[in-house]
Amino acid sequence: MSTRPIRIIPWQADFPSALADTLVREHADRMADCLVVFPHHRPARYLAARLTEHEGLAKPCLLPETTTFTELVSRLRAATHAMPLVQAGPLDRVALLHEAVQGLDARTSGLLADLPREIERFLPWGIRLSELMEELMRHGLPPRDLLAAEDEVLPEAAALLGHCEAIYSAYLGLLAREGLTTPGNDCRLVLQALDEVPAVLDGHPLVIAGFYALSGAEDAIFRALWQSGSADVLWHADPGIAQGRGHWCLEELRAWAGRWGARPVVEATCAPAGEADAPTLRFVEAYDRHSELLELGRELARLPEDQAAAVVLPDEALLPPVLHHLPERECNISMGYPLERASLAQLVETLLRLQENGLSGRYVWRDVVALIRHPYLKMLDLHGERPLRTVFRQWEKELRGGEKLVDPLTWAPQYADLGMVDGARAVDALLRRLLRCCLTAFAEARTLAGLAEALRGLCDLLVEHGGELWRDYLLDAECLFRLRTSLLPALAHSRLSHEELPHSVLFAVLRQVLAGERVPFEPEPITGLQVVGMLETRLLRFPRLFVLEATEERLPGTPGHDPLLPDTLRARLGLPDLRARDTVAAYTFFRLLAGAEEAVLFYRQGDAPGLLESTPVRSRFVEMLLWEEEKRRGSLIKPGMPPLASVSLPLSPIRSEALAVEKTEAVRAALLGRLRSKGLSPTALDAYVRCPKSFFLRHVCRLRPPDEVSEDGDPAALGSLVHRVLSDFLAPYAGHETNLAALPGEELAERFSYALRTEPFFQSMPLDARIVLDRTGRSRLKNFLAGQPHTTILALEERFETRLPFAGEEIALSGIVDRLDRRGGRLVVVDYKTGRVQKAKMALWDDAALWQACAEWSPGGDDPLPRLAGPLGSLQLPMYMTLCWGREGEAPADAAWVELADQGAEIAYFPRNFGQEERDRVIRELTPALLRFLLHHMEHAPTFEPVPQDACRYCDVRGPCGA
Ligand code: SF4
Repeated sequence: MSTRPIRIIPWQADFPSALADTLVREHADRMADCLVVFPHHRPARYLAARLTEHEGLAKPCLLPETTTFTELVSRLRAATHAMPLVQAGPLDRVALLHEAVQGLDARTSGLLADLPREIERFLPWGIRLSELMEELMRHGLPPRDLLAAEDEVLPEAAALLGHCEAIYSAYLGLLAREGLTTPGNDCRLVLQALDEVPAVLDGHPLVIAGFYALSGAEDAIFRALWQSGSADVLWHADPGIAQGRGHWCLEELRAWAGRWGARPVVEATCAPAGEADAPTLRFVEAYDRHSELLELGRELARLPEDQAAAVVLPDEALLPPVLHHLPERECNISMGYPLERASLAQLVETLLRLQENGLSGRYVWRDVVALIRHPYLKMLDLHGERPLRTVFRQWEKELRGGEKLVDPLTWAPQYADLGMVDGARAVDALLRRLLRCCLTAFAEARTLAGLAEALRGLCDLLVEHGGELWRDYLLDAECLFRLRTSLLPALAHSRLSHEELPHSVLFAVLRQVLAGERVPFEPEPITGLQVVGMLETRLLRFPRLFVLEATEERLPGTPGHDPLLPDTLRARLGLPDLRARDTVAAYTFFRLLAGAEEAVLFYRQGDAPGLLESTPVRSRFVEMLLWEEEKRRGSLIKPGMPPLASVSLPLSPIRSEALAVEKTEAVRAALLGRLRSKGLSPTALDAYVRCPKSFFLRHVCRLRPPDEVSEDGDPAALGSLVHRVLSDFLAPYAGHETNLAALPGEELAERFSYALRTEPFFQSMPLDARIVLDRTGRSRLKNFLAGQPHTTILALEERFETRLPFAGEEIALSGIVDRLDRRGGRLVVVDYKTGRVQKAKMALWDDAALWQACAEWSPGGDDPLPRLAGPLGSLQLPMYMTLCWGREGEAPADAAWVELADQGAEIAYFPRNFGQEERDRVIRELTPALLRFLLHHMEHAPTFEPVPQDACRYCDVRGPCGA
């Protein structure tokens, strides 16, 4: 039994320096024999630097060997087991596990029936199952069948957990048969030969440095070494633990000492820590991430040039925005960045989505747009230029006006329109290669090796045509390197690589492998300002700290949901659960803080990152620190009171106030030009009455929303089609009195169906929507015809026009009248409506004060325009009746909308009780007066005024309007 105490290096001290002192003091004469085991690689570099600078160490000399636990165990396994073993890659492990599952007795019923035996069903669980096996082995835990888990996990997961023991032992058998091992299996094998372990390291002073919560295998192996007297254990911890006190977060160390019966003592040469060694803490409560980063930028700008400091990121996703807030000085990044967060992974995701949503070589237009918008592809270089940008712009325009499903391989750019006649051949070759790499190669991938080959082709394209891209964007370059050197070999060279699998499975595996990949950034030199991940700070000390995102979600953090073994089931297998992970996070955080002279903790408390996400809450660790300070002061600390600063960006939102458009000379000229060439239609006049600014933006500036493929139909195209079908159908009967209701409705319906089938918008609609549109259209047209009266059709789809004075000229006011009938000797204007009918309030025509105001209006006076908008509804039918009166010399008796969007019934403009004399007055006096007023207003009002209203929500020029 060892009587060696566990030695504590106070966590206020620099651990690598203190360790260097210990090694020089105790092993200076045999430094090269020493072996130091760290929890991770980074402290080894700091130790090497401290020893190199150490004055007590004679040089030249060999430095001690450093290693991690995983490497140590691999070495111990090789020494204690004669059979050489090869490390199995992650996908090899999955393949062996699948074989193990397949080998279970298939005749048994119950849970076995749910086991995912087929490779397609197994693979989505495979990587998680292999991680579970690793974890069990690392903890030295015997597997246990987990029964009755059906309520907490899916049937496949319940079946796998229910046969954990059998799968585990079959898996071990397969590993042995194939001569393979894994880090977890190394632990298991070394635990079997624990007695031989001390002899393996005999003669090598061993230092177990800076571990905190031990796995089962770590505990057993370290204990065996310590008990044999071959190892010293050093903690980096609160020295109070030696007196039975110490910080609450050290409970794992107390339990460790209790298990071993060890006595913790403070390293004699370390200076005792006093009150003065406590760090100065400041807190920054930011409203959102922008203000958090803004304040970080200010803090860093105040940092002296030679001051060593660390920006700590509990959330690695913050790395790219943080890089933009670093000062102009030498900085190092020391962390692993998740590959799935990189732009490269987003490009890969787009390629997978193209295949998943596509159909027989045709792809959804939105996915193609997402592809050609990716910056890597737009920036592809050809002889120092980036020609694909303009090609993609032309393509996107076509895609937006085309069909839902497109075949990119058949698209031919109009190089002449782009002025690329000379270089067109080379540009086209690059475009074809891009399409082959991004589409064809992925479509043809049938195996993981094939998928790896497709990814390799993509990488080659990006490298060969990346130009300056990879030199300018180092983070992206590193991600590309990682994809090529780590992920592709894993996909291409495993036991699963040549198994034919459907795309859904291949892509699911690729996504899981991507999600597990991290891009390591190692700093050199390890001085100055560093950007580090939380885990990378273990055993390191930074005098100045800036900890971002100190929210509950990141500190201690919420682990992602594991569908195979949720947190609630982990304890049943003896594995550490959420509470154990929280303790580790607390130790990492408070140890880091203890070594600092000053620490600034940033957190957000205002802005929820996503629609369905909750507002961030400051970390419980921050709460504890603030509470300690409040107890010391005896009063609450509110935001704005030191040490708790509150930061929010000065609010300067984009103005939502819609400004009037002043009629400058240029605006007047544009208006006149427009009226001269196009005249005015009822639609334009309606727009002017409702909102003069919308008239200006739509009809003078000709602003239109960007083209989009109409996946759910195209109301405008459908309206034109219905008008065309009705006009063609009724044309033979024009000029003769006809009972329209007696005409063959089935023929009208057939004409509609035939015309519909030739429309591009119809082809791109989903099948169910096409069936519904065809059936409802046929039925409504038949209803319409059945409800039509005896009539003589005088005109079909004819333009009626008049001219009125404007700015010393005459401009045309016109509209296309769908149908003009003579019924019972009187004229009736008919208008087909496939959209909403906007009825007028007849009281409008009796409002003498309003008409007087219109007649007398002059700029600056009481403006009657806003009072017209509501009651007028639409100017269309009264204007058509007036135009008809001008053309035929006879005022119509009425006008009617045919409501094709509903049952096809006619809705008369005038109510029955509206006398003929009143109707004549509307047609001959009031409507012409209204048109004159509108033109007068348009010419003389000093501005195009916006009219904010509920309808602004649907206004397609709302963006440029600013309302
Ligand atoms: S958003 Fe409203 S105020 Fe602006 S142009 Fe459209 S309708 Fe007029």
